[in-house]
Amino acid sequence: MQYDVIVIGSGPGGYVAAIRCAQLGLKTACIEKYSTFGGTCLNVGCIPSKALLDSSEHYHNAAHTFKTHGIGLDNLKVDFEQMIKRKSEVVAQTTGGISFLFKKNKITSYQGVGSFIDKNTIKITKADGSEETISGKNVIIATGSKPSSLPFLPVDKKRIITSTEALTLKEIPKHLILIGGGVIGLELGSVYARLGSKVSVIEYMDSIIPTMDKALGKELQKVLTKLGMDFYLGHKVTGASVKGKDVTVTFDTPKNEKKELKGDYCLVAVGRVAYTDGLGLDKIGITVEERGRKITVDEHLETSVKGVYAIGDVVRGAMLAHKAEDEGTFVAEIIAGQKPHINYNLIPGVVYTWPEVASVGYTEEQLKEKGTKFKVGAFPFKASGRARASMDTDGFVKVLADEATDEILGVHMIGPRAADMIAEAVVAMEYRASAEDISRMSHAHPTYTEAIREACLDATAKRAIHI
Ligand code: FAD
Ligand code: NAD
Repeated sequence: MQYDVIVIGSGPGGYVAAIRCAQLGLKTACIEKYSTFGGTCLNVGCIPSKALLDSSEHYHNAAHTFKTHGIGLDNLKVDFEQMIKRKSEVVAQTTGGISFLFKKNKITSYQGVGSFIDKNTIKITKADGSEETISGKNVIIATGSKPSSLPFLPVDKKRIITSTEALTLKEIPKHLILIGGGVIGLELGSVYARLGSKVSVIEYMDSIIPTMDKALGKELQKVLTKLGMDFYLGHKVTGASVKGKDVTVTFDTPKNEKKELKGDYCLVAVGRVAYTDGLGLDKIGITVEERGRKITVDEHLETSVKGVYAIGDVVRGAMLAHKAEDEGTFVAEIIAGQKPHINYNLIPGVVYTWPEVASVGYTEEQLKEKGTKFKVGAFPFKASGRARASMDTDGFVKVLADEATDEILGVHMIGPRAADMIAEAVVAMEYRASAEDISRMSHAHPTYTEAIREACLDATAKRAIHI
């Protein structure tokens, strides 16, 4: 078969690229090695983790805040098997949706491992060992990533696990030891802490979510400590061993003392690496970067081989589903001869704990390093009527604006529905709004978004109304 475009991988990068190619009239095929479409995000990432975050949040509220709202419940209990079953149903509906979209857009899908024979010819090796060959004028590599491991800490997938296993456990851990205080660790740690597990986080750096604005990590740690999570910051894990149902994790303290923690599960969440195994990149002369194993691409997301593109987690930049989707659209439009654009500085980052954490643009630390003069405006949710009504008073919105022009350079928030609210900041910054622009726009009352306006008022002229 001859195609205009062959996409390898059906995650948010690959399936969006395939749909956009088809919309642009290109004859498109998508190869996926697993039996369901959607990649990490739909099968073992964004969607199942959010399903469990929502379920566990409901339980936590029922157990801890309903009483204050005047709602009494007897015999509240968790049916963990049902919780996991519902998560799987959400995943099945979502991955099934991609099959529907492929059919609707007349995209031909192949199930099997795609590998290069030459730059225009792809061999598909199916689960039964049979092979099929297809050719395409252009190929988009969208093969994503897999969890990183620590060389001295073998993952047995039973007691020492990755996020994939943490999403399908058969029991609620008694003591979950988390290695890595990044996004995965804190989201999945929140799920189990809410369900009653003791959760201990061992993080190498001196703060959690260390790549985000420092103020966010500090506030999130305070909130998660209230939830009962323990933090060992600046600690270096040195090993882990499993005996029966027990896991022992050993680590060095910042003062180089040796310590250990015993639990029943250890989740290793120390980042992810690009996945290119079995692609046969050597056949077409593409090499991967030593660190992170990413494929190098130019500003058009084209590799060193003309007509072969790469997108999503397998190339540089944030490992985020929406970044992969944006690159999928971008590359399809490049192939179709258009001139698309991605503003990488305005890709928001979100952590779906409660309160949620969301961020876009420069952090305070980055602006200081760049030598940019800036103003800071902030507004705490405890001063928001809407937040008091819903009992979500932890957190704040922080706005960084250029000292001379008042242009918004960064927005960082931790609070209720921050994941949705950050969209306002993205739109404002894409149109290069000043903090005063936002201050002068009407925000419905009472909403959490009023906190963004108040933080902008604070940044512009220290004239927030409610603080
Ligand atoms: P992937 O989604 O990894 O898809 C790659 C696909 O390619 C896979 O289906 C794989 O089977 C297939 N493949 C690989 N090699 C071959 C081959 N040779 N032949 C055929 N098929 C192949 N991001 C967010 O933005 N928000 C979130 O809330 C979020 N939550 C997450 C939670 C967890 C627990 C995890 C692990 C990740 C989360 N992410 C989240 C990150 C997000 O899942 C990834 O950034 C995103 O899936 C990357 O998309 P992709 O298309 O590049 O790759
Ligand atoms: P991460 O990079 O967010 O966090 C990993 C953490 O582990 C870091 O804080 C790092 O300092 C720490 N670490 C590394 N080595 C360590 C060691 N030896 N001992 C102790 N700590 C160590 O990575 P992640 O949480 O594994 O997530 C992987 C990717 O998945 C991220 O790039 C993220 O963007 C994506 N993801 C996104 C979301 C979301 O958008 N909500 C959710 C989950 C995952």
